[in-house]
Amino acid sequence: MKSRKLLMIPGPIEFENDVLQCMATPTPSHVDPDFIATFSNTLKLLKEVCRSPSGQVFIVAGTGTFAMDMAAANLIESGDKALVVSTGYFGLRFAEILKRYGAEVDVLEAEVGDIVPMDRIEQQLQSKTYKLLAFTHVDTSTAVLNDAKRIGALGKKHGVLTVLDGVCSVAGEDIRQDDWNIDVVLTASQKAVGVPPGLALLVASKNAIQAFEQRKSPVANYYGDWANWLPIMKAYENKQASYFGTPPVNLIMALEKSLQNIVKEGLDQRFDRHQRAGKAMRAALKAIGLEVLSKNEDIASNTLSAPYYPSQIDPSSFLQGVNKEGIVLAGGLLPELKSKYFRIGHMGSVNKSDLLGTIGAIETVLKNSGHKHELGSGTAAILKHF
Ligand SMILES: *Cc1c(COP(=O)(O)O)cnc(C)c1O
Repeated sequence: MKSRKLLMIPGPIEFENDVLQCMATPTPSHVDPDFIATFSNTLKLLKEVCRSPSGQVFIVAGTGTFAMDMAAANLIESGDKALVVSTGYFGLRFAEILKRYGAEVDVLEAEVGDIVPMDRIEQQLQSKTYKLLAFTHVDTSTAVLNDAKRIGALGKKHGVLTVLDGVCSVAGEDIRQDDWNIDVVLTASQKAVGVPPGLALLVASKNAIQAFEQRKSPVANYYGDWANWLPIMKAYENKQASYFGTPPVNLIMALEKSLQNIVKEGLDQRFDRHQRAGKAMRAALKAIGLEVLSKNEDIASNTLSAPYYPSQIDPSSFLQGVNKEGIVLAGGLLPELKSKYFRIGHMGSVNKSDLLGTIGAIETVLKNSGHKHELGSGTAAILKHF
């Protein structure tokens, strides 16, 4: 019996073999000339993927949460006002992190499955002088996609630093950091970037670095302080080694490989492929009678889907059943709806057969649990999109 299962959760995702091979390569010194060249190239590639030619990249051992922590720690001083536009679990997490560094935080919370309307955001920005606005590009708890371009434009108009949590979107959804005036784009390795967990990735605009340099108080987080990391990143950019904390050498080698693959595919092609996967999966779910959390197609993310269970389905036996069919899916994440919906990741190198296998397993288990749908209708919906 085959033990291999297909990991279709919103991170960690299925990784490419050439990326995984980097993890099994004997670890060179972090000051080895070949590794210095790798690190330097990786910094350059991440700017390319975020379309941020003027950005300053930080690649640090940590997770996405640490990237959020680093943005807050370096940009917030006690008493600063921050606005969080929240579309779910990770928006609320950002509010908590900002508060930890002394920010006075207002949260605009969207209804489940919806975004916060742009005029509501603008109204709020007019009502006070905020230093920072944080939002989640794709909230992994709701599969809702925010309009990053329009939020970036509002941020610029009102002179706030705009921080985009792109942990579930970078390399999966279109992002143009420079053109859209986003001051910080942050992510982690294990989602659409396609590298095992362990890297916090962040690209800061010139404005963000300037705001950091103009701080009056020291950064209250030693490990994440840009004063410690900026010289390191600049040294490696200039093909010189430097040390603050040992870089996760193999992960950075794997990141270079994955970013090379992403750039080779072509960013536009990659975003199109994700859009096709997202559309196909939502159409398939609809065909078998499942509703998704995201309220309409315009705000539905392409990196994951979040369908409600049909009412008679028991969540844990459903997920176990699908697992027995060889597909790993994730449960709900929003505390208030945890047992009402599940999540399907479809990012990275996901292809037609992954989607077919996944919907096939879902259809089978639902059928066996008494859900009424025409067997194969979801599968057919996927096929129609390719
Ligand atoms: C996964 C995720 C995070 C947290 O990343 P970790 O690597 O788990 O710390 C933050 N924001 C979003 C949108 C995510 O999807």
